Amino acid sequence: RRPEEDEGYFNSYAHFDIHHEMLSDRVRTEAYRDAILGNTELLKGKRVLDLGCGTGILSLFSAKAGATVTAVDMSDVIYQAMEIARENKMDKAITFSKGRLEDLELPTKYHCIVSEWMGYFLLFEGMLDSVLYARDHHLMPGGILMPNRCSLHLLGIEDLESHKKLITFWDDVYGFRMSCLRREVVKEASTDVVKGACVLTSAAQIAEFNLMTAQPSDTEFSCPFSLTAKRDGQMTGFAGYFDAHFDLPCPVTLPTGPNSTPTHWKQTIFYLPHPQSVTKGELLAGHISVRRKRREVRSLEVTITWGDQTFKYLVE
Ligand code: SAH
Repeated sequence: RRPEEDEGYFNSYAHFDIHHEMLSDRVRTEAYRDAILGNTELLKGKRVLDLGCGTGILSLFSAKAGATVTAVDMSDVIYQAMEIARENKMDKAITFSKGRLEDLELPTKYHCIVSEWMGYFLLFEGMLDSVLYARDHHLMPGGILMPNRCSLHLLGIEDLESHKKLITFWDDVYGFRMSCLRREVVKEASTDVVKGACVLTSAAQIAEFNLMTAQPSDTEFSCPFSLTAKRDGQMTGFAGYFDAHFDLPCPVTLPTGPNSTPTHWKQTIFYLPHPQSVTKGELLAGHISVRRKRREVRSLEVTITWGDQTFKYLVE
């Protein structure tokens, strides 16, 4: 990937609304806080690399835990992070380095790399590549990653109201058919909170990433999956979501599924063009494949084969 292709990506993090959204997501931010401040024994007196520091919140937690921190970000928000560190008298413990992690020369190796890199459906944004690069170049042998493990899940949902509003809508627009748009809209994965009551099937884990050993190529995969209907209903689509794990002496999990408190990631919804009747206890089998888009590596192509049909989706 050429750096200039990434300008738009980094510029998006120079606006404050995105940092406000992340920081006001308490489930997210408190998971990192608890992982860092619940495991101070591990971090006290150690060196931490904060990859993609944004406003510097994870650096502040780490410095509070007694670590010496190097905070890296390519986005201009890092200038604010510097001021924030001074404002909290933590500028002695935190050193800032502006740039793309892959282009920076860092003076030392680190005991711990902390990063909040997860995108929609975990893999959107493709920032995991940078975490794996940082692991290979800047982590000491025996060092730790926070988080260190992530899993990706899929379940079936029944949300006739949203399906009608978003998909069936195009069948009759002021008396006209706009079915060409219906076909296009179905292809776009949407980001929305799925109410617990809309969960129709069991969940299937479709991937697990052990970040200590994962390779960038692991982010493209395909696998079969099966879901069991929990009740009779009309399946309108699939919800995708991830859990991030901090397997530490004091372990922490950051769940983002429809049965947990909503986060800013919400869930990623793949609609079926037509609702499908399912009966309680029915075993439903499918196949999913996830690929990065060739030209826009930060987007994902998701293909789900379901029954005898195949649906292609874009997460972007
Ligand atoms: N750690 C902050 C911000 C997380 S958002 C928080 O938890 O609130 C991710 C940040 O990573 C963005 O600010 C983005 O600019 C930065 N980033 C992504 N890839 C990067 C890379 N390769 N090098 C440097 N910064 C990167």
